[in-house]
Amino acid sequence: MTDLIFTGGPIHTMDRLNPTAEAIAVSNGRITAAGTAGDVLALAEPHTTIVRLEGKALLPGFVEAHGHPTLGMAFRGKGVIDVRAPICPTSGQVMATITAAIAEALPGEALTVVGWEELLRPDLPEPTREFLDLLAPANPLAVLHNSAHSAWGNSLAMKAAGLGNDTPDPKGSRFVRDGSGNLTGRAEELPATLIMAGSPLRATHESAPGLLAAEYAAYSAAGVTTVGELAFDPKDRGLLRAVSGKQRSIRIRAYRMSNRPAVPAEEGSDDGFFREVGVKLWADGSPWVGSFAASFPYLDTETTQKLGFAGTKGCCKYTQNQVYELCLSALAKGEQIAIHAQGDAAIDMVLDAIEAALKQQPTENHRTRLEHCCLMTAHQFERAAGLGVTCSLFLSHVRYWGDVMLADLFGSRAENWTAARSALDAGVRISLHNDVPVTPSEPLRNIHAAVTRRTVGSGRVVGPRQRITVEEALRAVTIDAAWQLQSEDEIGSLEVGKQADFVVLDADPLGIPAEAIQDIQVVATYVHGVQTHGAGRWTVSADSAPVL
Ligand SMILES: [Zn+2]
Repeated sequence: MTDLIFTGGPIHTMDRLNPTAEAIAVSNGRITAAGTAGDVLALAEPHTTIVRLEGKALLPGFVEAHGHPTLGMAFRGKGVIDVRAPICPTSGQVMATITAAIAEALPGEALTVVGWEELLRPDLPEPTREFLDLLAPANPLAVLHNSAHSAWGNSLAMKAAGLGNDTPDPKGSRFVRDGSGNLTGRAEELPATLIMAGSPLRATHESAPGLLAAEYAAYSAAGVTTVGELAFDPKDRGLLRAVSGKQRSIRIRAYRMSNRPAVPAEEGSDDGFFREVGVKLWADGSPWVGSFAASFPYLDTETTQKLGFAGTKGCCKYTQNQVYELCLSALAKGEQIAIHAQGDAAIDMVLDAIEAALKQQPTENHRTRLEHCCLMTAHQFERAAGLGVTCSLFLSHVRYWGDVMLADLFGSRAENWTAARSALDAGVRISLHNDVPVTPSEPLRNIHAAVTRRTVGSGRVVGPRQRITVEEALRAVTIDAAWQLQSEDEIGSLEVGKQADFVVLDADPLGIPAEAIQDIQVVATYVHGVQTHGAGRWTVSADSAPVL
């Protein structure tokens, strides 16, 4: 019973033993053969759909090792004003979009701006409570920074969120207060920022399934078939499981936020589309809001002065002992742990904590993850390799913020930003991610960023010594990302027995100049042998005629 055969184009399996195949056969959603065209086509039966690639490339479906599908879902909700840089490239467009949305809103309707970011649009003011009160006198209006590591609210938004001067700060985050203890309207770090961001980011029971399905469709269009949810709240378990199981288009591997209580899942509920695999902690903040923990200060420039962090170094949000306790508890329970750590000072602290926890609770194959790793040094990558720690890298930083990092924030230190070459040379297994919705889901542009380190702004190359090869970058969005998500036995490479999760590309990333990889188009995406994205001739079904 062969349902599908792909042949006629380059097929990169990402299986080291058999890196290429002439054809792939699929039956019941799984790969049943990978080999020569003659051998595989011999398996064709009258009902088999034969997809002729005609030079297009077939690879394993991309794995976004670190994203936030539920936050991306929330960005699609009613009352959300999306001003992310790809949508509103100038400050004028940002303010026009916000004022138009306020003008259209009913009095009292809660509104939340997402994607606020001053580094790429330097004319934007700080959205203080007073500024927002003037802008929206009749509506709760909150602003969530693009990093989600800071937020602001007007007076009505704070009231709507139930915030008062006696509101306690959530662990690892805070509501900023003035000298008299009064809330200023600014929140720093999650989860305080998400509380300040208010109700528009909390999709309703009725709207959530449709919004999440739309978010999944955007991943499918980018060729993604599996996503790590790195801010999982157990209250969303029912929603994620239902939509993932019904759509069968995106596999979710979820990491529970460490400040949310663990709620045991019922037995036998794993259908391969939704699975809880670990716990997540934010050790420091974001380099774009001055809150990541570095060993050296930001440059003193007009930009850093305006943003209020000239000459500062940021600080960790947790103590070493807190991280140690969390690691120890996760190791004891057999839970994987993923720790957001961007600055080199945070990374030192986290590595110390992991080392101590592993000494107390020696664990094989724990795959403890560090997230983003912007300022991680070669020495720190060597330490990580020695401890069995794996890293998920945010190369899009270089693509989108590379120019501003060099000129306004860190000078030449930015040359080693997200040092993928150092990581691989140290023997660390890496993934690349977009941290969707911080940047759009675009694995091919991520590969381009890792391979060229070219910025979209000026087009200059940031730290050419940290470039990696196309083959290495592909591994980091397929098999090695699957390994990080503890799913390498099911997905990430094209091997007999694995899931038939594929992406079809209009050009072969291993067969064209590296600079052209960012322009490759996703032609079709398949999950469990079923097409989840693609139009025209690529829309096939089990009973369609063979595509010639
Ligand atoms: Zn994230």
